Amino acid sequence: MPKRFRPMNWKNCTYKPCDSMRNLIFLILLLPVFSFSQSTIKYNLYIISDPKILKETIKKDPNKALVPIKDYVPNIALDIKYATTQNVFYTQLYKKPVALVRLPVAKALAAVQKDLNAQGYGLKIYDAYRPYSVTCQMFEMLPDTLYMGLPWTGSKHNRGIALDLTLIDLKTKKELKMPTPFDALVYAAHPEFMKLSEEVIKNRELLKTVMKKHGFKVDPMEWWHFNFVSDTVFELLDIPFEKMGF
Ligand SMILES: [Zn+2]
Repeated sequence: MPKRFRPMNWKNCTYKPCDSMRNLIFLILLLPVFSFSQSTIKYNLYIISDPKILKETIKKDPNKALVPIKDYVPNIALDIKYATTQNVFYTQLYKKPVALVRLPVAKALAAVQKDLNAQGYGLKIYDAYRPYSVTCQMFEMLPDTLYMGLPWTGSKHNRGIALDLTLIDLKTKKELKMPTPFDALVYAAHPEFMKLSEEVIKNRELLKTVMKKHGFKVDPMEWWHFNFVSDTVFELLDIPFEKMGF
């Protein structure tokens, strides 16, 4: 009988079908590990979702470190709205109130705080670094292309270079009067809106001036949102706080 028609004797055969099955199952099990450990490309965006890859970028450029703002500005007030349900979504989006930014942003905030403290004021942070998937979650809940961070571009919050903040009185710790509450999606939130009391305009202009002096640019739609201006490309990140040890 030609060899190829000989019945298979599995006992003597070194190749066992279960070997290939086992390899296949092993590969299938590994697949999610690979897809999580790699960075993802969504809407043609490069998004880092693995803390190890972030670490590699920091090794090459220490300014890419994502640091707690409190480490650089100890007396800064935090009121991280998305760690509560007191926000425009009535939803808690962060497990913990964490405020992280890239290293040069933290240093610039320290300079802002120093200037403000000398005048009897201080900063209060509503939001800082925000994982990319939270931006997507927000857009699903409120698909507004004017005010919301867009999933197809990502937000500067996802890059660790944007902040939502306001001013407080250093003695009373109370917020200064501003044109609208945080996250009010209304025309009065535009930073150039002028149908406001003198006091409110004075407070908003103080915030804009001191932030601009230290390298921040106010968002054209939201008086509370500032982007740090830099030539460095800070990648979009989708790493939850807890994966970074916070
Ligand atoms: Zn913002």
